Amino acid sequence: MNFDYIVVGAGFAGATIAERVANKLNKKVLVIDKRDNIGGNMYDYIDENGILVHKYGPHLFHTNLENVYNYLKEFGDWFFYEHRVLGKVNGKIVPIPFNITSIEKSFDKEKADKLIGILKKEFGTEKKIPILELRKYPDKDINELAEYIYENVFLYYTMKQWGQTPDEIDPNVTNRVPVFVSKDDRYFQDKYQFMPKSGYTKIFEKMLDSENIEVRLGVDAKEVLNVKDNIIYFEGQEFKGTVIYTGAIDEFFDYEYGSLPYRSLEFEFETINKEYFQPVGTVNYPTKEDKFTRITEFKHMTMEKAKIPKTTIMREYPCAYDRKSDKANIPYYPIVNDENMKLYNKYVEKASKIPNFYLIGRLAQYKYFNMDLVINEALKLFEKIEKEV
Ligand code: FAD
Ligand code: UDP
Repeated sequence: MNFDYIVVGAGFAGATIAERVANKLNKKVLVIDKRDNIGGNMYDYIDENGILVHKYGPHLFHTNLENVYNYLKEFGDWFFYEHRVLGKVNGKIVPIPFNITSIEKSFDKEKADKLIGILKKEFGTEKKIPILELRKYPDKDINELAEYIYENVFLYYTMKQWGQTPDEIDPNVTNRVPVFVSKDDRYFQDKYQFMPKSGYTKIFEKMLDSENIEVRLGVDAKEVLNVKDNIIYFEGQEFKGTVIYTGAIDEFFDYEYGSLPYRSLEFEFETINKEYFQPVGTVNYPTKEDKFTRITEFKHMTMEKAKIPKTTIMREYPCAYDRKSDKANIPYYPIVNDENMKLYNKYVEKASKIPNFYLIGRLAQYKYFNMDLVINEALKLFEKIEKEV
């Protein structure tokens, strides 16, 4: 096949743009991925216990973007699932995000009633308040509550996850899990929340199932693509088509300006010989003594009705990313701050000189994107490309 497009990466960024270009523009697309599987971080499979598990960490689909919802539902059946998270907070198991129920479970009735009353009066009900804002609040009782939540929910979790305190990292990170003046104990309040009935990998198979798409797995972009004088070469020949790159941009340019920092994770799977291990899909451990941040029990979120006597759980151990190591060598989380964005922008500047070369996705855009935003970015890029052809 002679290709019009080469897409690097078969996660949601790559699969979405490949699908659109192949099926809407009738163009020939080559998708390569250095892993042996499609699906990027969403890759899932049935394990030895017969349970659908996510190899690269738990992935819950939630969005307010109607276009993304409408797009995705074409590629398989989904079931309604709203994720709930509990946390081991100062020895008690309470809902996360920390909410009215969490206050009731954490303090004696008199104190809880007082705190809830003040919060409702100051902020109103159904209000979300980022912890860093709550901490600045002058009221003595609110301040005491904010310190309790900061210390017991955010401080050690964030230290484990990012190697820094909540004050040191981009505030948008902790803003993802605000204190919620509500009894609503869902982790997300998005309009659309659902999980793929047969798993994400099947969704990706359907997205990439086109006679215009060829997928080559176990192929690193570095082996087949190179750039000289702003011209892209594919397998040694000048490539006149379009390249869409969804991997880490520093890697693509051989770390010319230095490495972009990321956080990585190690996952530890375990089989438990009972039907359920914990009451909800995820229990967070914002504790100092535990080295992991959370335990996920996949059954809750991936299997709609299965009756299986065993269960699979997974602990997440955050760590510094090290591309040269044989562990912790997957860049899962970009570390967004001014200094790193400056470095990232140097790479973007370099990339912008290459005609028909686009960067999309969590790694290539160096943004803490959820799945829906990545799909949205790919759909936006498609609109742009469609106008140009
Ligand atoms: P990826 O899924 O990372 O795909 C990029 C692909 O490119 C990979 O397959 C990689 O192998 C390939 N690649 C990279 N470099 C090269 C190269 N040089 N050559 C060839 N191939 C290459 N989002 C949610 O919405 N809900 C969640 O619950 C959620 N949970 C998450 C949990 C964890 C632990 C993590 C890390 C992320 C989570 N996310 C979640 C975010 C989600 O994973 C991302 O939004 C999504 O993966 C982004 O898709 P992508 O295509 O940009 O990147
Ligand atoms: N966070 C925390 N304690 C928690 C949950 C979250 O401190 O119990 C903070 C932490 O800094 C984390 C961020 O909020 O990295 C975002 O949490 P989220 O669950 O959105 O992270 P992700 O699922 O992307 O790993």
